Amino acid sequence: MRISDDRYSRDRLRLDIAIQFIRHEARTHTIRQWTGLTDDRIRKLYRSYLHGGGLHVTRHRGKSPQQAGYFLRTVRLRQEAAVLASIGCLLGVLHYSRGTPARLSPGIGRAASVCQAYDTYCALVAEPAITMEHAVLLLVTLSHGVELALQGCRECGALLVADPLALHPARCVVCSPEGPRASKRLTCNH
Ligand SMILES: [Zn+2]
Repeated sequence: MRISDDRYSRDRLRLDIAIQFIRHEARTHTIRQWTGLTDDRIRKLYRSYLHGGGLHVTRHRGKSPQQAGYFLRTVRLRQEAAVLASIGCLLGVLHYSRGTPARLSPGIGRAASVCQAYDTYCALVAEPAITMEHAVLLLVTLSHGVELALQGCRECGALLVADPLALHPARCVVCSPEGPRASKRLTCNH
C-alpha cells in the first residue's frame, strides 16, 4: 500500500510539473527530460490542459535554445539573467561547494525547484524577457560553470551572470555606463 501511495505521488508530481512546463510553453523534449513522461502522455496532457480551460499556449517546435551567449547580448537580458540566477541560488537550484557549482541535471528530482525559480522570476519582473526554455538553459549552464559563471560586480559586488573567460572583470548594470537607462525596465510587482 505504501509503495503504491509513493508511486501515485510521484506520478502526480510528474503530471503537475508537466502542466507547469506546458503553461510556460516549454518544448515536448524539455518536458520529457524533466518529468520522465512519454511524448504520448505529454501530448495528451496538452490536449486536456487546453480542453480544461487552460490558457492558450503555443507549442514550440524544433530544438531547445542552446546558446549560452544569449544571456549576455543585451543589458536587459544580463539584468534579468542575474535576477533568475539569484532566485536559483536562494531556492537551492544552484548551489556551490567551495566555489564550484554542483551540476544541475534534468530530472523530476529538481524539476519542482526549477519551476518555482521561474515562477518567482516571472512574479518579480514586469515583462519577463527570458522564456522557460531559456531559464532552464541558464540554470543548467551556470551549474556547469564553463560557458557562464556567477561573479560579483567589480564595483558593488552585486551578483552577475558573466563569461568566465572575459578579459575584463564584469560590472553590473547599475555600475556600467549604460545602467541608469536600462535599469528602469525592471520593476517589482509589489
Ligand atoms: Zn555594480
